[in-house]
Amino acid sequence: MQQVWLGTGWKMNHTSREAEDYATALAMFVRGQSLVTRLFILPPFTALAVVAEILRDTQVMVGAQNMHWQSRGPFTGEISASMLAGCGAQLVELGHSERREHFGETDYSVNAKVHAALDANLVPLACVGEPGIEREFGVADEWVRRQVKIALHNVPSARLTRTIFAYEPVWAIGERGIPATPEQAAEMHRVIRNTLTELYGTGAAREIPILYGGSVNRDNAAGLLKQPNIDGLFVGRAAWQVDDFIQMIQLVENVTARRAYA
Ligand code: PEP
Repeated sequence: MQQVWLGTGWKMNHTSREAEDYATALAMFVRGQSLVTRLFILPPFTALAVVAEILRDTQVMVGAQNMHWQSRGPFTGEISASMLAGCGAQLVELGHSERREHFGETDYSVNAKVHAALDANLVPLACVGEPGIEREFGVADEWVRRQVKIALHNVPSARLTRTIFAYEPVWAIGERGIPATPEQAAEMHRVIRNTLTELYGTGAAREIPILYGGSVNRDNAAGLLKQPNIDGLFVGRAAWQVDDFIQMIQLVENVTARRAYA
């Protein structure tokens, strides 16, 4: 059985001081447990080093929310993969819909960043998901298949095992988002798995975790995790406070335990 993943991206929230308090409480919690869930948190750049240091030697991976595809150069305000790795990052989120909407991220730049992340030994967490209008017009599958295929263009299967996908339908994200039903999410996860299978074959495709994100909370998490091809959850608002994240971890641990004995 695939391991179950649970992670949170903080977006533009938490000062270094707040991040330090969050990470300290989380480290204290995870050090006293034997957890099976694969955990990650994605603080803003400014808190990455301090959070990575506090969570060093725990099972919580720490990552960034974006990076540039070049390793260095005249790109004012940008951060490279090796800079992230130097701060203790182990993974990097790429192609979040907010970056696509507000900062000109495209499928092609996501692909360049996937390669750069892999070169720097970072795990790329590639976000895909259709806007509501594409779903209304019945082309959500094509949209997401295209995003997956371009994200992985020229990525050989040997490097694929270090890649994670997050299916985050744009219409499900944030304050005004409507969470996908477990069935809607499962249907698109199946599409993503099939796309990966077409590209790399069944064995390799099965190894890629596909997480669901978009208004996940403690009420809908269990239903989503019960679906085939949903290998974990990527949570925003509902995990920005450490106590909420810890409760979500406990919930996922319980669901996973029940799944193991089912
Ligand atoms: C996100 O933006 O990646 C996300 C999952 O946010 P939320 O859970 O707040 O919808």
